Amino acid sequence: MENEETELNKITFDFPEDKIKLTLIHKKLELHLRSSFNTSHSSTTIRNNSIIIIKIEGQYNLYGLGESGLPPKKKGCYLADINDIKNFINDYSIHLKNVIEKKEEISEDNFPIKNLPKFIYILIHALDTCPSNKELYYNCAKNCIEGAIFDLCGKIKKKSLVSLINNIDDTNNLPNEYAFYTVTIVEEEEFIKALYFGLKYTQYIKVKLNKNYNHSKRALEILNNECNKIPNYKGKWSIDLNSDYSNPEEALKFIIEIVLQYKEKIYMIEQPFPINIIEQNEEEIKKWEKIKEKCEENNILIFADESISTEESINPLKKIISGINIKLEKCGGIRGALKCIKKGKELNLKIWIGSMVGSTLLMNLASSIIPFSIYSDLDGGLLVDDVSNPFSGGFFWDVNKGIILSNDYGAGVNVKEGFFKDYII
Ligand SMILES: [Mg+2]
Repeated sequence: MENEETELNKITFDFPEDKIKLTLIHKKLELHLRSSFNTSHSSTTIRNNSIIIIKIEGQYNLYGLGESGLPPKKKGCYLADINDIKNFINDYSIHLKNVIEKKEEISEDNFPIKNLPKFIYILIHALDTCPSNKELYYNCAKNCIEGAIFDLCGKIKKKSLVSLINNIDDTNNLPNEYAFYTVTIVEEEEFIKALYFGLKYTQYIKVKLNKNYNHSKRALEILNNECNKIPNYKGKWSIDLNSDYSNPEEALKFIIEIVLQYKEKIYMIEQPFPINIIEQNEEEIKKWEKIKEKCEENNILIFADESISTEESINPLKKIISGINIKLEKCGGIRGALKCIKKGKELNLKIWIGSMVGSTLLMNLASSIIPFSIYSDLDGGLLVDDVSNPFSGGFFWDVNKGIILSNDYGAGVNVKEGFFKDYII
């Protein structure tokens, strides 16, 4: 399973004060999808994500794991590829060496978990102050490294991340019942196959649609027919338009003529408007505001995904949305996500915890912030086939209760035998 060619960075650092040697490894993770993942942005059957392993030896012998999902690049929303992550890690390593040499006193204030060995705060400080932090790919690269640091912290503290971040002991019974599974834009037969696979885990289905009116009409008809066959079906649907509509009149026509037919079953519509919506003129924005009002009258919410990234991006959209889809890659990791959640709640917006396509590891890192929302689509572990997914464990799906979180240390996942064997302890 191991492929040496996929190692992109490997750098070693000494932290004499903490009596440890730290190795930071960046690898490509090739994930094969069960069904092609087709959206208005791209069609993929294989995803190449970045995995970070932070291995520490000495006083502690542990490793932390981080992952960033890397969809095909798209201006304005998907900003990093694997080479960008590689370049960032080179810059970060040089900067980290400087920070270590300077031996300055570093505060614990910028990290939510306290009383950890000093090297953790040095790693975080270097991440926050890296000179490449103005690059477009910074948030995605930062998330990958930050994830590995968080996982390591959970292992050092012998607690799950979800309990450390949310200050709770038993995480097994948190309400996360609206856990969605995604079905993408595929032919009818594949659509039904993917739908039935998802329905084994949850009755909450997110469907990717685009501005192809006939396809969307048919996809919702099939979804409705199949869900109606389930006795006492109680699920909800989300429609993800992935910013495909640029014309609000066309979007409104689609909503009135098709979506409202199923309004009892639909929870929300995601990103109906273009990515750069806030750059458009006021008249155009007003039209999207009216669409939000029309949907809310029918108990359907409008969420932003591609148009939001960090906390600063949320406020300008508040009039045209009811909620925000928070993903670790967009906001630079768990700390950035916590800031987005805070901002969203201040603005009275609903919170949805989403994710790029990724392995069980990425889903479990994202699940550490799930107590802030009962709505999520952390379905990567189901979308990716078992053979290419290097991780097991973590949360599991209960068709009646949603996601049941794990109390295992850190992100709570195990590396399957045969993967990363030269790197993990
Ligand atoms: Mg989306």
